[in-house]
Amino acid sequence: MRAAPLTVGVIGGGFTGAASAIACLARFPQPFRLVIIEPSAVLGRGVAYGSHHPLHLLNVRTRDLSVRADRPGDFLNWAFRQLDQGENHDGLHEALAHTFLPRQLFGEYVRQRLFEMIEQRPDVEFSVKRAVARAIHTERGGYVIELERGRTVPCDAVIVATAYGVQGGSSSGALSPYEALPPDLFARAQSIALIGSGLTMVDVLISARREGFQGTATIVSRRGQLPRPHAPKGVVPHLLALPRSKHVSMLEASLRIACELAEEGGTPWQAVINGLRASLQDIWQELPVAEQARFLRHLRPFFDAHRHRLPAEIHARLMNDLDKGRAVLLRGSVMGVERAGEGFRLEVMKRGAATPEIMEVDLAFDCSGFKPDLDQPLLRGMIEKGLARPDPHRLGLAVEANGQVLGRGGEATRGVFAVGPLCQGTLWEITAVPEIVRQADAAALSLAALQEPVRKSGTVSA
Ligand SMILES: Cc1cc2nc3c(=O)[nH]c(=O)nc-3n(C[C@H](O)[C@H](O)[C@H](O)COP(=O)(O)OP(=O)(O)OC[C@H]3O[C@@H](n4cnc5c(N)ncnc54)[C@H](O)[C@@H]3O)c2cc1C
Repeated sequence: MRAAPLTVGVIGGGFTGAASAIACLARFPQPFRLVIIEPSAVLGRGVAYGSHHPLHLLNVRTRDLSVRADRPGDFLNWAFRQLDQGENHDGLHEALAHTFLPRQLFGEYVRQRLFEMIEQRPDVEFSVKRAVARAIHTERGGYVIELERGRTVPCDAVIVATAYGVQGGSSSGALSPYEALPPDLFARAQSIALIGSGLTMVDVLISARREGFQGTATIVSRRGQLPRPHAPKGVVPHLLALPRSKHVSMLEASLRIACELAEEGGTPWQAVINGLRASLQDIWQELPVAEQARFLRHLRPFFDAHRHRLPAEIHARLMNDLDKGRAVLLRGSVMGVERAGEGFRLEVMKRGAATPEIMEVDLAFDCSGFKPDLDQPLLRGMIEKGLARPDPHRLGLAVEANGQVLGRGGEATRGVFAVGPLCQGTLWEITAVPEIVRQADAAALSLAALQEPVRKSGTVSA
């Protein structure tokens, strides 16, 4: 029998790290030690929920978000309590359910729930290490996480929740999308280049307009796919049995037909995509690696534009800018970006052109999206030591569905889990809140089994 309580080290204190810690607090029946390792001062926010811009909205309706797998609708109830203050405002709950709230509010909800859970578990020894984890190595049947400046955290189990890495400036030469900038910078700018055409691009454009940018924004994108809008009112996911195929082109054709048929029958196509989501992890894992790679090469921008949608109000703002020529969509690739005096010089290869053109702008932002970085020392070290191996597309790590990390030979690395976006290459549909919460819960349940024999049975309710 284990003499000391189990120690779980959670590396990364963004949304996934917080959701994983909450899941452990909810699922471990015995006392344990929980250590979160995170260099920034705030827990639960990370890249997605760290923005304090009121128009950086969630792209999921309030009713569909919760940081607890066992409490659907928890965010809606939390948001309702923030606003209602006991007045039992008629219709407010229903209206909130369909709203896309600011992401900063969701971050606050996650942080609050984490600290509530910690308070409700006085038997758990909780600590935070403000540091970057540099390496993990095995020691006496457990693990030691090495931090900066030679500090170490011994633990029995590790949850790696580092997703998009430690945020710094963009390495492309352009500005990073959520960089703090002098307040009058946008008002003075006449021209902006936005590299990438997804949700991050829309965040930057919305911020720029709100800060007084009056000029023209050029959106440079290889495929020119812009995020589509959500259906105006929340739709019920349209569950359909798509004919399973090992060919991406067949799946794409079936999905197109299903969307067209739904529209003809009066159901928005968005309901079909929502319905597909529940089976996407299975569909992805059934595809041969070569077909997955084909999807990544050719179809991903089209799929992402339909899957990761904009609230209708924000979509209307984007379309308005495009209609009025205040934003221009340029199909092409950015070959390089450099500072040029006060502004930026971009080398752009327009689609179909033989030679690149130079574009000079006042501001340029890298909106090409966030990706896990397998070259960060922690992950590189895990791979070199055989504790983990990359997925076949090098988007992240090879894992089981519950995040259990697979080692060099394909065997499970005992007690080591990766949760969230790090698992995208293996599971695909794992970067958004509902899927991350479910996976964090599954990982916590597996880890709970490593605890000593249970004296009191059942889930700890909090
Ligand atoms: C801009 C944006 C908006 C989104 N909006 C939505 C939405 O509306 N709805 C939805 O469902 N999903 C949304 N998502 C997707 C989803 O919520 C994110 O994928 C999720 O928040 C990822 O959180 P994370 O904690 O895994 O990663 P991150 O936010 O990247 O956090 C990782 C944390 O780990 C820390 N870290 C990294 N490396 C180390 C290390 N070596 N040692 C210690 N700490 C480390 C970092 O400092 C960081 O705090 C959005 C994603 C983005 C990027």
